[in-house]
Amino acid sequence: MLRLHPYEYHRPRELEAALELLKEHAGDVMPIAGGTDLVPNMKHRLFAPGHLVALKGLPELHGIVERQGEIVLGAAESLSSLADHHLVRSHLPSLARAAGAIAHPMIRNQATLGGNICLDTRCTYYNQTFFWREALGFCLKKDGDVCHVVRGGTRCVAAHSADTPPILMALGAKVDTASPEGVRSVELDEFFIADGIWNTQRKPDEIVTRLRVPLPSPGLRTSYQKLRERRSVDFPLLSLALAVGLDGDDRVESIALVVAALGAKPRRIGGLETLAKGERLHDELIEEIARQAYRQSNPLDNIIVDIEWRRAMVPVFVRRAIREALARP
Ligand SMILES: Cc1cc2nc3c(=O)[nH]c(=O)nc-3n(C[C@H](O)[C@H](O)[C@H](O)COP(=O)(O)OP(=O)(O)OC[C@H]3O[C@@H](n4cnc5c(N)ncnc54)[C@H](O)[C@@H]3O)c2cc1C
Ligand code: SF4
Repeated sequence: MLRLHPYEYHRPRELEAALELLKEHAGDVMPIAGGTDLVPNMKHRLFAPGHLVALKGLPELHGIVERQGEIVLGAAESLSSLADHHLVRSHLPSLARAAGAIAHPMIRNQATLGGNICLDTRCTYYNQTFFWREALGFCLKKDGDVCHVVRGGTRCVAAHSADTPPILMALGAKVDTASPEGVRSVELDEFFIADGIWNTQRKPDEIVTRLRVPLPSPGLRTSYQKLRERRSVDFPLLSLALAVGLDGDDRVESIALVVAALGAKPRRIGGLETLAKGERLHDELIEEIARQAYRQSNPLDNIIVDIEWRRAMVPVFVRRAIREALARP
């Protein structure tokens, strides 16, 4: 049986008090929301904080509302409420789909949006028990100094495996945070960094309070595709999010395509606006977009699944995503 280490559990009732606790116990404290990722990771001795600060009781992190041209999503909202909420389902259907494709209903009831945004990266050589990792000699991300995925590599390339960030990025979301230094807001695109050890620019004492998504224009079509071995419970082996804006004549005004679960951060496929702007999404153009996405996607052996399969599915998902987006009213 895997046991948890001893720790003190704090349940603040307001954001100010939570930030105070993070400051007071700096270096030996972590925020916890649903705990669906953090608790297993603590059992694997990947984290062993002496203090946990619970976020679910903070009213400032709750609510899903439409305000000033944005859908505002509280970070402590559960994935189930995100998947089921009428505002999300009507304005951001692909986000509802991404949230509803995470794990299984019991986990989605407990897990939160903030925890999904701050989800630790995953790797075959990392998400293992202490004994397993010790037998292998550990790795760069935790307790060691080598990478088993990229031999001789000096940078961790564990996979960003969260389902909601790719579609939130494609939709142009911003993330609001609070820390003892104050509050700030960053584009979700910039929030993630290509470092598998800590793949966000969030500081350890910084709490994600909400996500803000611009209200989509009437011509915006979206899709979310997820590759996994089973139809439930599995993390993505590849994920792809599309948001394409069409004018009244069905010509492309904007296009965002984000591919994730391959490296340490979601990747926005470049060069698509130049290719597609002003054009209708005809078969030839769809094939060219699929080729661009394939060229720019390079899976690594960070998950025990054939990398060629993961890469070969990129153009398949591009075609499916565009066709699905176009078919939606
Ligand atoms: C069997 C199983 C299957 C899963 N499948 C999937 C899947 O398919 N897709 C997927 O995306 N995830 C999956 N997960 C992972 C996890 O359940 C989700 O990512 C979930 O959204 C994490 O949210 P949480 O509230 O439980 O986070 P926690 O476990 O509480 O926290 C995760 C991390 O985020 C930090 N954190 C949490 N909230 C905040 C905040 N507001 N501000 C700052 N830091 C914060 C914590 O300190 C911790 O480092 C799975 C987990 C399990 C156990
Ligand atoms: S990518 Fe390398 S350093 Fe990162 S967790 Fe995997 S083995 Fe460790």
